[in-house]
Amino acid sequence: MKTGLLLLLFFFSTNVAYEYNIPVKTTDRSSINNIELTEIGEFGLLRKERPGIPAHFHTGIDIKRPNRNYHSESIYPISEGIVISKRQDGPYAQLIIEHENEHKFWTVYEHIAGIEVNLYDYVSPETPIARFMNENELNRYGWQFDHFHFEILKVQPIKLKRDHSKPERLFASYTLACYTIDDLNKYFYNPLEFLDKRLN
Ligand SMILES: [Zn+2]
Repeated sequence: MKTGLLLLLFFFSTNVAYEYNIPVKTTDRSSINNIELTEIGEFGLLRKERPGIPAHFHTGIDIKRPNRNYHSESIYPISEGIVISKRQDGPYAQLIIEHENEHKFWTVYEHIAGIEVNLYDYVSPETPIARFMNENELNRYGWQFDHFHFEILKVQPIKLKRDHSKPERLFASYTLACYTIDDLNKYFYNPLEFLDKRLN
């Protein structure tokens, strides 16, 4: 009885090391120095008003294509998790992954293409989940999409009503809902700080 209890205590006190990697293919995926951002890709940047979109803070980072691969440049999750939302409508294609590590958090991958995973799939940092847009897609949607938008959420994304035109889009992020720094910090981590603390 006593031994059993001790074993149980030992089990719960052992620290589980969660694996983290940056979401793009580079020679070393364990350093944020290998993430290159676009010119206006920083977290927390104030984005000017555009037709139909009020001024808002940039809730993620815009990651540049790491290699000159305009056909199949893969995108990976930063840690293991479950796909909880998927939308595949052109330049706004998006995946949301729920992670249950030392605490829950959610990651968002947007302006992606060639999605390779299904809703509720288990994924790890080794799973290619999608890719950067290829040359044809960039010619069609615009070269401003030559990056992918990456977010890390502190809170559960917004649950959506079922939409038959996008049946696998179950959640939305707070991407265009951050009008103050307080909003930004309530919903989002700075992805580079978050990763820098956890990468080995
Ligand atoms: Zn962005």
